[in-house]
Amino acid sequence: MVNIILLGPPGAGKGTQAKRLVEERGMVQLSTGDMLREAKTSGTEMGNRVAEVMARGELVTDEIVIGLIEEKITGHAGGGFIFDGFPRTLKQADALAELMNRTGQTLDAVIEMQVDDAALVARITGRFTCGNCGEVYHEVTRPPKVAGVCDVCGSTDMRKRADDNEDALKQRLMEYYKKTSPLIGYYYAKNQLSAVDGLAEMDAVSEAIASLLDKA
Ligand code: AMP
Repeated sequence: MVNIILLGPPGAGKGTQAKRLVEERGMVQLSTGDMLREAKTSGTEMGNRVAEVMARGELVTDEIVIGLIEEKITGHAGGGFIFDGFPRTLKQADALAELMNRTGQTLDAVIEMQVDDAALVARITGRFTCGNCGEVYHEVTRPPKVAGVCDVCGSTDMRKRADDNEDALKQRLMEYYKKTSPLIGYYYAKNQLSAVDGLAEMDAVSEAIASLLDKA
């Protein structure tokens, strides 16, 4: 199975598309954001420190996220990875190349999800998810059929992320442009970069990604 990176700013739809690929193709979503949110609930000192950094919208250290990814990659031989929210710095990108090489795997495609900043603010500030199954909703563009009840699993445990507010989002965008957007040039130079229009309808984005995967 192919291994891919979904690259794009917060709110580009990486998580939503990754979840579809998990369902439709049996791929494995590796979201460092999800892993860090899990660590946060562990109540350890590391978890608490990470929670503060995330709430401000800053990046956690390369060492922490590289360690998390290393654990997952080496513990899962089959591949079919979707890297979602990783790498976010050039150092992480180099570490990923080294890790893939060491475990005898290839990175088959890097898909940039292109969106404009004005759309991101609207997307992120209205976003909420089901605390039970992780389905993603939006107050305006994608409300559940029955208010407060998850369409997929029926749970009423709807949650908003602590960093999905305007202040943290500004910082997350700044981090993206300063530290993550150089990866677009990095993967272009490695001949691995493709792009999709992240502002298209969700199904159209899925189709565009699917056709890139079939070519990879
Ligand atoms: P996400 O769910 O991908 O939007 O990530 C939420 C937050 O987790 C980010 O704003 C960062 O604080 C942290 N985070 C997630 N992935 C990384 C990463 N690869 N490198 C550094 N920080 C990360």
